[in-house]
Amino acid sequence: MNSVPAPVSPGAKINLLDFDREALQAFFGEIGEKPFRAVQVIQWIHQRGVSDFAAMTDLSKPLRARLQETCEVRPPEIAYQQASKDGTRKWLLQVDPRNRIETVFIPEEGRGTLCISSQVGCALNCSFCSTAQQGFNRNLGVAEIVGQLWAARRELGEERKITNVVLMGMGEPLLNFAHVVSAMRLMTDDFAYGLSRRRVTLSTSGIVPAIDRLREVIDVSLAISLHAPTDALRDQLVPINKKYPLRALLAACKRYAGTENRRKVTFEYVMLDSVNDTPAHAKALVRLLSGIPSKINLIPFNSYPNTPYRCSSEDVIERFSALLQQAGLITTIRKTRGSDIDAACGQLIGKVSARDPRKFRLQAVGS
Ligand code: SF4
Repeated sequence: MNSVPAPVSPGAKINLLDFDREALQAFFGEIGEKPFRAVQVIQWIHQRGVSDFAAMTDLSKPLRARLQETCEVRPPEIAYQQASKDGTRKWLLQVDPRNRIETVFIPEEGRGTLCISSQVGCALNCSFCSTAQQGFNRNLGVAEIVGQLWAARRELGEERKITNVVLMGMGEPLLNFAHVVSAMRLMTDDFAYGLSRRRVTLSTSGIVPAIDRLREVIDVSLAISLHAPTDALRDQLVPINKKYPLRALLAACKRYAGTENRRKVTFEYVMLDSVNDTPAHAKALVRLLSGIPSKINLIPFNSYPNTPYRCSSEDVIERFSALLQQAGLITTIRKTRGSDIDAACGQLIGKVSARDPRKFRLQAVGS
């Protein structure tokens, strides 16, 4: 996991955004430099957002020249962006000539959350998800994952602070395990972004063995794209459930929470009209989650072209939430943000791609 990434083609510069601290120390060892130089470089790149080696003034001149010649700090380029009146920002990032991803910043009272992608497209085929319709293109590299944070922070400047990161954009992060873990190591590294482990959240559809591996290698918050309280319904909405059914998934969540229930797991539940939103579903959900330290996040469904689903009404969502709360479950309803821009996952990328279909595939971001 921490092996030194090689340049993509002979003669190409090595992108230092691809290295977590351990990997950069190994790289500096290989080129005959002291490991503490790697810490200095990590601080320049991630804490101060510097990409020009010449500006890294506490490095020796020969080292700066050497890095300039062989390395680079290259985040994905911003291809398009939108800003909402409510402060929500959305960026379309170019990761290679054919592929773009979305990153969204959502400001709230006392916090700023960045939602980032881990893959281009997704192979998991959840029936309510617009990304699923596009299929899977490729995994993102570490530089492309952490580069979303690097680029967003540069764009926001002093204006807004990113306090939370959620891997909840395009893709299933646990199917890009090594790159995602390295990127999250940088997010939580005090020499890089220094985010609290509670404020970095990985959202998964439920790849059970990878949840156990995650618990062994890094301590971050876990969210599960649950969306249904029974196997019969979840098999339809989140087909990976056929491989890892609810019993196995919830057992993995309990293991993740730890023996003392140290960590609460967040369960995301998209509200689909007449599909998963009845009082019977709410009661089944209460039974399902009993004994697991959990928070439930109800997500009003964002419609997109050709989907058979509709969002539950506000009343139904409120009633569903009340039933969960009466049973003692901590429940929130996600607010709709950025309604004056294409802030719902996948809207912007679909629109911009549709304007220029020869250049870009139609893509959309899931949850
Ligand atoms: S909901 Fe998440 S895991 Fe499911 S298809 Fe969409 S992006 Fe993939």
